[in-house]
Amino acid sequence: MALIVQKYGGSSVADAASIKRIAKRIVAARKAGNNVAVVVSAMGDTTDELLDLADQITPIQEPRELDMLLTAGERISMALLAMAIKSMGADAISFTGSQAGMLTDATHGAAKIVAIEPWRVKAALDAGAIAIVAGFQGFATGTGNITTLGRGGSDTTAVALATALNANWCEIYTDVDGIFTADPRVVPLARKLDAITCEEMLELAASGAKVLHLRAVEFARRHGVKLHVRSSFSNTPGTLVYDPNREIPEEIADMEQPIISGIAAEMNDAKITVVGVPDAPGRAAQIFGIVATTKAHVDMIVQNVSAAGSRRTDISFTVPISEGKKVVAALQAAEVSIGFESLQYDDQIAKIAVVGAGMRTSTELSALLFNTLYEAGINIEMISTSEIRISVVTRADVAARAQQVLHTALELDAAEAATVYAGSGR
Ligand code: ASP
Ligand code: MG
Repeated sequence: MALIVQKYGGSSVADAASIKRIAKRIVAARKAGNNVAVVVSAMGDTTDELLDLADQITPIQEPRELDMLLTAGERISMALLAMAIKSMGADAISFTGSQAGMLTDATHGAAKIVAIEPWRVKAALDAGAIAIVAGFQGFATGTGNITTLGRGGSDTTAVALATALNANWCEIYTDVDGIFTADPRVVPLARKLDAITCEEMLELAASGAKVLHLRAVEFARRHGVKLHVRSSFSNTPGTLVYDPNREIPEEIADMEQPIISGIAAEMNDAKITVVGVPDAPGRAAQIFGIVATTKAHVDMIVQNVSAAGSRRTDISFTVPISEGKKVVAALQAAEVSIGFESLQYDDQIAKIAVVGAGMRTSTELSALLFNTLYEAGINIEMISTSEIRISVVTRADVAARAQQVLHTALELDAAEAATVYAGSGR
């Protein structure tokens, strides 16, 4: 008997009708002779609505209480789904993250899974029931508190559960037909990929693609979990995420790997520029030493050449907007000791990434990218690259167009517009 873990995102459980619809799907998978464990997200935009609600109470929330609040979202959908399945005559039982044995560290809002002890889930499956687990949440053994894994964390719950249960595969159900060459909400002609390597998916997720949680992809790669991302609104085969070092799925064995697998955009970063830094050894070390004390996640770093004779330079870098204020405050406090002239903070930027394993062997790609943006009148403010990624920073308001023109120039456009079945994309 195969064991499948299925994960349903918020738009797949958005209302009672949706919950009944996926319940049918789950019961069908069970009747087909599989053991089925299901991980659910909160209904629709519930998590965002709970955050808005907390903001109305106080702008600064205590992390423990915020996690208590947010985990309620997944408890609603898990219980309703269990009821829906039972009403169809199959057996089901729901579990919170802690009941399912998702043990984490104590970092509220970004807890790391430290162990998975899903004995209750296993017992339910052994008894022939469908086990439903609330996504995105865990239990910190050290403090006894309820934690969350970070936004989008239900994917990670699903992969972790699939690992612990030794599942045959893990299906991630969403509101589009799989992983696309770009976000179909931004680039309508985005094309569905039949398969993508973990390595490329990791770069895309790290570059702002929301279709899969970055940590879920990391987890899947480390533990060899086979992922299938597909729509809960259709029966179309989705996208397989695979590790070529382990096994190449039969479905794509004969296909040639595309040079580019996709484009992603990160809209939630800010650019900080330290203006007029003395061009002397040790200043970058000093600046990033201070930034490190804030624990902010620094990404692109650019140091400009010093203007002739000035012996001063500008250093720019990006951080998540949510961490921008504290970084600026920390740098401001060190203004005299670093000796810079001023600080600029800019959150109207977009970071756009083009990702593809074929880049390793392609020589003209960067010229094509930069020329395409130039012809569209889009200014590039920063550039960074990895082996399989080229990223640029642009103004936020041209980000959609930049992705569209790049998509066309890279010959990724599909013949017809992609279907977005549901969801607000929030
Ligand atoms: N409900 C949580 C969120 O919106 C977790 C998830 O859906 O993966 O971020
Ligand atoms: Mg998600």
